[in-house]
Amino acid sequence: MGRKLVTVRRIGAIKPIEGADRIEIAVIDGWTCIVKKGQFVVDGLAVFFEIDSFLPGTDARWAFLEKNFIDWNGQRGFRIKSMKMRGHMSQGLLEPLEDFPEIIGVIKDLEAAHGRSEAEKIVRGLSFEEPLGVQKWEKMYNTWDGGEKKENVPLPAFIQRTDQERCQNLPDLFDEWKDEVFQETTKMDGSSMTAYFLRSDSDKTTSLPEVDSSVPQTALLHNGRFGVCSRQVDLGEQDKNGRYFWEVAKQLDLANKLSRLDRNIAIQGELCGSSIQSNFEGFPVGIHDFFLFSVYDIDKQKYTRPKEAEAMARKLGIKHVHVEGYFRLGDIATDIQGLLERAEGKGLHGKKREGIVLKHVDGGFTFKAISNSYLLKHGE
Ligand code: ATP
Ligand code: MN
Ligand code: MN
Repeated sequence: MGRKLVTVRRIGAIKPIEGADRIEIAVIDGWTCIVKKGQFVVDGLAVFFEIDSFLPGTDARWAFLEKNFIDWNGQRGFRIKSMKMRGHMSQGLLEPLEDFPEIIGVIKDLEAAHGRSEAEKIVRGLSFEEPLGVQKWEKMYNTWDGGEKKENVPLPAFIQRTDQERCQNLPDLFDEWKDEVFQETTKMDGSSMTAYFLRSDSDKTTSLPEVDSSVPQTALLHNGRFGVCSRQVDLGEQDKNGRYFWEVAKQLDLANKLSRLDRNIAIQGELCGSSIQSNFEGFPVGIHDFFLFSVYDIDKQKYTRPKEAEAMARKLGIKHVHVEGYFRLGDIATDIQGLLERAEGKGLHGKKREGIVLKHVDGGFTFKAISNSYLLKHGE
């Protein structure tokens, strides 16, 4: 499941901007978006395109954005970014529903089949990037070394992919969770990394990729298999794209440490360092490290409690993402705006941090609050 970039939503509020007579603010769940005055009404439905949507220039409906088109991934189009206008954040693009017959068609069909109110609920969970040719903009890294291109092996199906929803998309957050306790950690802007160990007697070992027996392997251990993955890919030990992931795994001796636990387990964390992403965290040249943020119990098919993940980092002698503390949600903020303000802050090396991650004490529900000033500064 990826992000839902194009959704149909009800407009929560319309607010004036002081001194502006042609624009105003539309509130969509926890987002604020600057729109043309009078174009939208409170409680009306509209199509909301989240930040990082890449709109195809071939669609005439985006012609009005043409002077700001960029070239990306071999295409021309518009990338939606966070902006600040007249002192107000504007995130996303809000468009009238009537301009999108593709979406209206889907709604009509659902209404005919399920009735109005049920249809609205279903539509709320749908994302329309496919019919509109919208893609998620991502920074392109040229990691291919010119050698033979191999098929990627996906992250094993028995491990859950790291992800958190943005707080702006959780309209019921405070109603449902304000009395619950959350672990608050610093969000690091590196790459998601998973290291797993699977005992040789596990029935899941058959689902793992074959290892190339012609080269020395760290993956094969006396009692099982060890693997290193990016967010989506089970990286081969010889795979050049996985270079820093495997380097750090070896530097921290993760294969032996996990094998000594002798249980089916995955540890997940952020790979950070001078060669990862744009090193906005400011790591010294050549320094790479892994910061654990969760432990996944493969047999139980669930995450451990955050406290147990912290204990695991200590046991393995590796770093954990910085823990701000454990708090009742209602004590750290009373609304989304308060959470976003709390997300502002400094990271490990004193640079602006990306934000915070809140994880419920039982290890199930997590979400993130990304710093708006970080988005304005780095925009990725
Ligand atoms: P987007 O949400 O824009 O699609 P994305 O898929 O890269 O981007 P992020 O915004 O980076 O997701 O948020 C989720 C990721 O945050 C996780 O996959 C994880 O790698 C990373 N992360 C960094 N710090 C933490 C932390 N303290 N706790 C949990 N996850 C963290
Ligand atoms: Mn995501
Ligand atoms: Mn990230």
